[in-house]
Amino acid sequence: MVNEEKNLPTTSKSAVLQEVFDLEIKDTPIKKMKPTDVMIKIMAVGICGSDVHYYDTGRIGNFVLDGPLILGHESSGQIVAVGDEVNDFKVGDRVAIEPGVPCGRCEYCRTGRYHLCPDMQFMATPPIDGDLTQYITYPADFVYPIPDDMSYEVGTLSEPFSVSVHAAQKLDIQPGKTVFISGAGPVGLLTIFAAKAFNAGDIIISDVEESRLEMAKKLGASHTINVKEKDVKEEVSSFTDGHGVDYALEASGNNSAESDALLTLKPGGKIAYIGMPTHDTAPLDISFMTSNEPQIFGIFRYANTYPLAIKILHDNMEQANRLLTDFYSLDEVTDAFERTRTAKSDSLKVIIYPNEKLRDE
Ligand SMILES: [Zn+2]
Ligand SMILES: [Zn+2]
Repeated sequence: MVNEEKNLPTTSKSAVLQEVFDLEIKDTPIKKMKPTDVMIKIMAVGICGSDVHYYDTGRIGNFVLDGPLILGHESSGQIVAVGDEVNDFKVGDRVAIEPGVPCGRCEYCRTGRYHLCPDMQFMATPPIDGDLTQYITYPADFVYPIPDDMSYEVGTLSEPFSVSVHAAQKLDIQPGKTVFISGAGPVGLLTIFAAKAFNAGDIIISDVEESRLEMAKKLGASHTINVKEKDVKEEVSSFTDGHGVDYALEASGNNSAESDALLTLKPGGKIAYIGMPTHDTAPLDISFMTSNEPQIFGIFRYANTYPLAIKILHDNMEQANRLLTDFYSLDEVTDAFERTRTAKSDSLKVIIYPNEKLRDE
């Protein structure tokens, strides 16, 4: 099926990162639809820390910007066309888009761990374009319906929230157990919803920004720690009567926070590293390891999380809405990125509208 035959758009206005600090709006071609694809009008895109990394440094770890790249991978939209072999969707459906498409054939894909697929095509990871664009064609298998009463903006959170859900599943959070979340950025804050959905008991969260800690309280954290003023290990210890927590989730990526988070665990506790690190390595307290048997999990994206992530977000919709702080049209993309990069204390999630602007404030 060819786009022209169905009177579908063939080009789309996109936010293209030409090089570091150079975002331009360009007309880019839309991929031709395959029978198993849908075409989606992108209604909202959240800016992620990783998008900002490419914007201001041109790389994340081994992934290096090596040519123009369309950014964006946290998105929702409306279906405008369905391929002949797509049965689950119809034109007009409102959806969230999972931004990674794995090969489906390798050892990892065949064992349900498709996020580890070596041939993963993940949006806005060079050389795969993202979806800060008006229209995309996309495999229907990686598109999920969102409820009628869920806004497109909250729908975009299903991507970063999937990371929290994946981490909670990896840790296998049990009812009533204590959780420490290190870092109250968007993913750290979303992790509160995951911990609550898994029926965690006390949720302790740390950050350096008082405004983010206040938000964490509103979202359901039991205790907050301002790392600028207090020692994390001592505070967690006093909140848990000297026991330490059952689970820690490190979502700040800060070097010393990564080392400290481990030390908040009770013997036999589990920790998940979610945050994109500012340094490749962090000091590891080996004597803590050999005296306490912590279990350490690395978290890379997610797999099979979208339906559950959307359900939990739906249960927390009003709260989730509080994370959305700034709204821009596609033409204002550079302002949106500068806002994400520089305004940490009063900005959480920045949303860009590739088509009509749905919200101003
Ligand atoms: Zn993201
Ligand atoms: Zn694979």
